[in-house]
Amino acid sequence: MDMNAVSVPIERDKLYINGEWTAPSSSQRIDVYNAGTGKVMGRVPAGEARDIEAAVSAARAAFESWSRTPVAERAAYLAKIATSLQARAQEIATIVAQEVGMPVKLAVRIQAGAPILTFSNYAKIVDGVKFEERVGNSLVLREPVGVVGAITPWNYPLFIIAAKVAPALLAGCTVVLKPSEVAPFSAFVLAEVIHEAGLPPGVFNVVTGFGSVAGEALVTHRQVDAISFTGSIATGKRISELASQTIKRVTLELGGKSASIILEDADIATAVKGTLQSCCLNSGQTCLAQTRMLVPESKYEEASALAVAVARAYVLGDPLSEATTLGPVASAAQLERVRTYIRKGMESGAKLLVGGPEAPEGVTSGYFVKPTVFGRVNPKSAIAQEEIFGPVLSIISYKDEEEAVRIANDVTYGLSGAVWSKDDEHAKKIARRMRTGQIEINGGAFNFSAPFGGFKQSGHGREGGVYGLEEYLEYKSLQLKA
Ligand code: NAD
Repeated sequence: MDMNAVSVPIERDKLYINGEWTAPSSSQRIDVYNAGTGKVMGRVPAGEARDIEAAVSAARAAFESWSRTPVAERAAYLAKIATSLQARAQEIATIVAQEVGMPVKLAVRIQAGAPILTFSNYAKIVDGVKFEERVGNSLVLREPVGVVGAITPWNYPLFIIAAKVAPALLAGCTVVLKPSEVAPFSAFVLAEVIHEAGLPPGVFNVVTGFGSVAGEALVTHRQVDAISFTGSIATGKRISELASQTIKRVTLELGGKSASIILEDADIATAVKGTLQSCCLNSGQTCLAQTRMLVPESKYEEASALAVAVARAYVLGDPLSEATTLGPVASAAQLERVRTYIRKGMESGAKLLVGGPEAPEGVTSGYFVKPTVFGRVNPKSAIAQEEIFGPVLSIISYKDEEEAVRIANDVTYGLSGAVWSKDDEHAKKIARRMRTGQIEINGGAFNFSAPFGGFKQSGHGREGGVYGLEEYLEYKSLQLKA
């Protein structure tokens, strides 16, 4: 498909409920902005409680039959979905590049590629899952948890949707998805693909809307058995409180403030480059972003100079341009948030090595931030403690490995991290002491089959592979007479 095949504005005026494109209960629409221009790129319905009610009723009604459909059949649907998404990969990438700001070349691989891989991996995983097991005189069954409410953020919109929807469907759950209002369009593509794949009506439903309205209606609904949420800590807390009223199972994938520990014996150039690339991926709007670079005091000057050079090499520009290596951030609110943090960093006494709060030279529209590196950052300061979600790196020096581990762990988050060393065993030894859900050793790649999720306030529960499937399964024991 032609890269520009997506015609703008994208007008979506229906919700996907019970296998049909359904008129929403209110005529209110939500404007969606193009990150590269700051202009409206389309609109989606502002769904309300009545729409959630209709979607949940449909999901409830579909559950009985879907949960009893043989798992191999459900897996075959996932494979079909993956194939159809593949055919629309360029379109998905073009949409998400504009919504979120990731350069389209990368968006094809990540924003479209990752959800496709997620669906196709879950289609294949089924052989490795034990749905029944004998334990003494019991037959232990794994059964779907029920109707799942999925609430997702904007930064990797379709990937995060896929990481919930694919395992939930495979488990035999039915789903009501409330995607982010900032980047909702790929959810409509998924609904079209699912419709074409012929999933029974009500198995998958999409209601767009604001979190405080549609999101809360989903979380408080008595007929919803589980909520899978990815987003900010503040929303995660609110969802936990609300969900407690109906004792729902809640999975939370929240933010991060990940440390990249560069050990004395590391290849400094590779480590700095790898850290900065992680920090700036998707303009820093990545929950796994390595935003704190911890370097031994003896290597501080060298590491700082290398970081500045890598930051300067980024080509800022329109996310739809093939030459762009760093796009804008997703929204005006996000731009303001990142700039405020950069100003806070300057006020905290950290050394601004490159970048800054001003718009990049010559840029008058779109939500662009210069890649920014701070040196001599106090590990207790706001820029070293709080998630910025922009291309902003904090360099912190340490005197020995004990101190490096202490600094790495001294944040409320615990999602990810990295360790760099010439000796893998040395790196692993340090990684074992880090209180986070996943850690890259010398730039090790993201693994779709490995568990993904956080320690501490980065949330609870896991996505990815069989671990992600577990979130949607209940245990049932049949006690057999010997
Ligand atoms: P957000 O918390 O503002 O919104 C996420 C979703 O929750 C949206 O769909 C929103 O409409 C909905 N929502 C908001 N208020 C709600 C409420 N009261 N009840 C129910 N739903 C509500 O987060 P965001 O700004 O979209 O995303 C950025 C955040 O997500 C960052 O903190 C980032 O680190 C985190 N994130 C985490 C992961 C992970 O896997 N750990 C992945 C991506 C993003």
